[in-house]
Amino acid sequence: MTKNFGILAYPAKHSLSPVMHNAAFRELNIDAQFGVFEISENEFSDFIERVKHEPISGLAVSLPYKENIVFQLNKVGGDAKKIAAVNTVVNKGGFLYGYNTDFIGSNMALNEVEPDLKDKKVTILGAGGASRAICYGLLKEGAKVSIYNRTKKRAENLAKEFSKMFETEVKSGDLKEIVKCEKGDILIQASSIWLTSSKIDAELQIPAGLVEKFDTIMDIVYSPLITPLLKTAKKLNKRVITGDKMLLYQAVSQFELFTNEKAPIKLMQKVLRENIH
Ligand code: NAP
Repeated sequence: MTKNFGILAYPAKHSLSPVMHNAAFRELNIDAQFGVFEISENEFSDFIERVKHEPISGLAVSLPYKENIVFQLNKVGGDAKKIAAVNTVVNKGGFLYGYNTDFIGSNMALNEVEPDLKDKKVTILGAGGASRAICYGLLKEGAKVSIYNRTKKRAENLAKEFSKMFETEVKSGDLKEIVKCEKGDILIQASSIWLTSSKIDAELQIPAGLVEKFDTIMDIVYSPLITPLLKTAKKLNKRVITGDKMLLYQAVSQFELFTNEKAPIKLMQKVLRENIH
């Protein structure tokens, strides 16, 4: 019988998960299909209960449900519990298991240029859900992390929580203070700055002088793929990681949880690139 998977989000129609997973199922001759579950917040709890009883084998989970879903599952993996967010659900005979592959995706994206993240000095811009998973992944690998955010309190809270969890100092600051940050190895842009502010405002907040201080620059925003930050980084001959890489690798890891098969990474990357705008 064909297995059913899907992306649970609201809105969900723009998601690039179906093209990656469906291409991978076809490539490996797996009798499965990956659809879209665009579920409103009113329908969310009922939907999760339905998944337990219907032939839905797994879910990719995106905004706004990554945090809320943690409380609706039968079991949540250790990493997902610590991040307090789930982006992957596997249905094992009516029991829903939750995992987080976002932190694996960001680490794998970084590993393309930095195979060993231990002791690397990393500055992260943003303190939302994505930043949380990225910070967790970096700290797990022994990197030294600083978090800067528009709302300082949010960066401080995240730094305090992870400092305690990993028994290491995580620095934090206001976005305005980021220009004064120390030199480091990696700068990660993990906020929605390009989507929610004018190009001029955003570029003022991330000036070339800041980019100069780092060897590798990653922006997790993938639309546009080459953000103004990455344009500056390229001009300065920095190593650049585009946002599609984290998206790809979180899906790769998710596919492997869904199927217990090795994901066809090259193919997934190809279809992702073809469908990204
Ligand atoms: P989120 O939880 O809503 O957090 C948004 C973050 O962006 C917060 O830190 C917020 O700061 C900051 N922000 C928003 N507008 C800003 C502005 N004008 N100036 C400065 N900071 C601003 O969102 P998220 O889930 O973390 O996602 C963040 C971005 O990453 C989104 O663009 C999303 O598409 C992208 N993303 C990419 C991947 C991938 O796989 N490549 C995965 C997840 C997310 P405040 O705390 O001050 O509001």
